[in-house]
Amino acid sequence: MSLNTTSLRNAHMLVAKRLETIQPSATLALAQKAAQLRSEGRDILSLSVGEPDFDTPLNIKEAAILAIKEGFTKYTNTDGIPELKMAIQSKFSRENNINYDMPEIIVSSGGKQVIYNLFAASLNPGDEVVIPAPYWVSYPDIVLLAEGTPVFVRCNMEDGFKMSGQKLRNAITNKTKWIIINSPSNPTGAVYTKGELEEIAEVMREQAHIYALVDDMYEHIIFDGIKFHTLAEIAPDLKDRIFTVNGVSKAYSMTGWRIGYGAGPQKLVKAMAMIQSQSTSNPCSISQRAAVEALAGDQSFIPEHCKIFQQKRDEVLKMIKQIHGMKCLKPEGAFYLFPSCSTFFGKHTPGNKSIENSEDFVTYLLEFADVVVVPGAAFGLEGHFRISYATSMGVLQAACKRIADACAKLM
Ligand code: PLP
Repeated sequence: MSLNTTSLRNAHMLVAKRLETIQPSATLALAQKAAQLRSEGRDILSLSVGEPDFDTPLNIKEAAILAIKEGFTKYTNTDGIPELKMAIQSKFSRENNINYDMPEIIVSSGGKQVIYNLFAASLNPGDEVVIPAPYWVSYPDIVLLAEGTPVFVRCNMEDGFKMSGQKLRNAITNKTKWIIINSPSNPTGAVYTKGELEEIAEVMREQAHIYALVDDMYEHIIFDGIKFHTLAEIAPDLKDRIFTVNGVSKAYSMTGWRIGYGAGPQKLVKAMAMIQSQSTSNPCSISQRAAVEALAGDQSFIPEHCKIFQQKRDEVLKMIKQIHGMKCLKPEGAFYLFPSCSTFFGKHTPGNKSIENSEDFVTYLLEFADVVVVPGAAFGLEGHFRISYATSMGVLQAACKRIADACAKLM
């Protein structure tokens, strides 16, 4: 056997088999390509980021500085300091009308770790997780890493990108363990109404073996005076079968601080804390103190941020809708737009490359228009692409103009 073949085989054996099923992040690949073009001197405009463009509010930063000065810099309880768990408990009671006991709450290093712990703690090989598509990119891969089976329910623009009770009913088998509801949604900004959540709750009552992961990460970024609802609030009888995840990343512009939290059945929370105790231990002590201030301190900047996001949504939506053949639903929350691009499939770029799918389309926008957006395929729905409008109005207007010009050149 040659040296090369041996090292290839060793490399193959080094990485676990279960990694063969998961995908590298499409958004990261795009970011790399954009960075490369930037280093070549190109003026790249990015509409791909998944974080607010506001700074973390000063009172939150000061709480962290105080924690450092007071020497609050050591290990804490694995599943979160009591002070933060109490702030989370009051948040759920004040904003969502749900009462959780402290042992029903866990704090982790980001909502992503909460979801990772949840599936690692509860899935057996072959257990199915119903994921409405389009979905947040990480759900299927986290399910696969936990050796579960994602089952996708396609939710088109005509469905408002939302899963009806009937569609959910059709997707359930005796292997279904979890369903996922994410509202406001990444990538579409769709928000489930009270009535739509009641339909989902009705299916859960019919199917006593299923649990719901409810991802409320964008709860506070909601527009047009729409009222936010969450499943455990409108179906208190199902509270023992609902796990709600939330965090400080989006509402408080704290993506880098890595604090997320979740609440649900105590047995499950205990198992999740055990996984955390054998992987990362406690979330950062300083970030936890900052998160207490975020949840319990001044909330007045939240509506101010929403107002600015809403103005940006309106401007980008107007410009995108003016592009011939492009359709876009008006998002009611989060900071994303999910327009269609299928009208350009089958057309050719000025360099005579054929556009066959959303990846070709976004590659064309990057190479020809110097604009970064994310293909719908990464979110499980072809024929669309995601725009993040969490950037300055100037960048948004310039980028939308470039997208319009590039689309007009497709023949
Ligand atoms: N859920 C959704 C829908 C998200 O978009 C994100 C982040 O982009 C997360 C959860 C995780 O957020 P974090 O790990 O920063 O708390």
